[in-house]
Amino acid sequence: MSTAEAASHLRENPFELARAQLRKVGEVFAIDPNLIRILSQCKKAVEVSIPVSMDDGSIEAFNGYRVTHNIARGPSKGGIRYHPDVTLDEVKSLAMWMTWKCALMGLPFGGAKGGVICNPKTLSMGELERLTRRYTSEIINDIGPERDIPAPDVGTDGRVMAWIFDTYSMNKGHSVLGVVTGKPLSVGGSLGREEATARGSLYCIQSLAGKRGMRVDEYSVAIQGFGNVGAHLARLLHGEGAKVVAVSDSRGGVYNPKGIDVPAALAHKQERGTLAGLANAEAVTNDELVELPCDIFAPCALEQVVTEENADRVKAQIICEGANGPVTPSADAILEDRGVLVLPDVLANAGGVVVSYFEWVQGLQEYFWREEEVNAKLHDIVARAFEETWAAQERYATSMRMAAYGLAVQRVAEATTTRGLYP
Ligand code: GLU
Repeated sequence: MSTAEAASHLRENPFELARAQLRKVGEVFAIDPNLIRILSQCKKAVEVSIPVSMDDGSIEAFNGYRVTHNIARGPSKGGIRYHPDVTLDEVKSLAMWMTWKCALMGLPFGGAKGGVICNPKTLSMGELERLTRRYTSEIINDIGPERDIPAPDVGTDGRVMAWIFDTYSMNKGHSVLGVVTGKPLSVGGSLGREEATARGSLYCIQSLAGKRGMRVDEYSVAIQGFGNVGAHLARLLHGEGAKVVAVSDSRGGVYNPKGIDVPAALAHKQERGTLAGLANAEAVTNDELVELPCDIFAPCALEQVVTEENADRVKAQIICEGANGPVTPSADAILEDRGVLVLPDVLANAGGVVVSYFEWVQGLQEYFWREEEVNAKLHDIVARAFEETWAAQERYATSMRMAAYGLAVQRVAEATTTRGLYP
């Protein structure tokens, strides 16, 4: 592993950043400081050790977390991340953002997140399965369809969700479809779930284009990250006629100001496991990609890629946060001064959890919907949240981020007040 890969992507403590954002929301929206104090903390954080038999006969002990930030509006919901840089404070910040995301979308969920410190790219399939099953066993009393419902996040996918579903169900003695979302279709997944996060981002971009009298096919876009969010977003935007000028994976990117051949990039990545060497495109680093000339920059990988160091060099006029937390608060301030519009994570990448909600509902009812139905309902929810955020942004003369977080925090605060403080 090179030094560059070994350095964590987290330059600042993400939980401190999330709490600072919350305090600012409290001021802008005049929310009772007592409520802000409650919401600044996570309800529960579980830390577990995950011993795993490795293929070489040795035993490795991994560390994992599951954090619930808040359950005022319903069971907690949020993905599980497998990544070498996972920290407890990162998981706490991601759990808090899930609370805001679910509230902004009007879903009957609170926020949670899980993480295991590991590099899934270097684990064999058997090691990954044993790690997942043991991690699930360690948190088995904390999750459940009415309690806390995991889903995929960075480094996990439908296959991992299937193992979680199976481990939980084997222990209960019957299939429990509602315990986890993002499952493969063969075991109770929802049509449209895999591309849902990217589809939600597309709907936000379409709504914004409408406000500005533009069409999506008039925009050029640079996309960082070619996982579940970035790859689908590239495909969907290309399908809508937008010019995708750059795409990247964790090792670097490719750029062509005249437009990348997106179907070729998807096939290249599928065949070779990398974007490097794609025809008719020049190589760029992930740092360079942030600063490329384009209309929309869509960070769809990890947190803290736009910081106070590079925010003044971003050329895009719109940032669409496909990832959670890719723009730091100090970068936000610089971008706002420069008139760059940020479509915040809790709005721009919420499509995933919206269709997770649909999957949970379908699983509980054992009745499954058509893909067009899923996409139409997703559009309804995301487009409505966009309009509400847009209106709040105008009313409070603030940024889209503050407006989105403000609406969300108000909803959670209202639920907390209505329920009352126990005992
Ligand atoms: N990990 C995704 C997110 O950050 C999806 C969460 C979910 O579907 O529960 O929104």
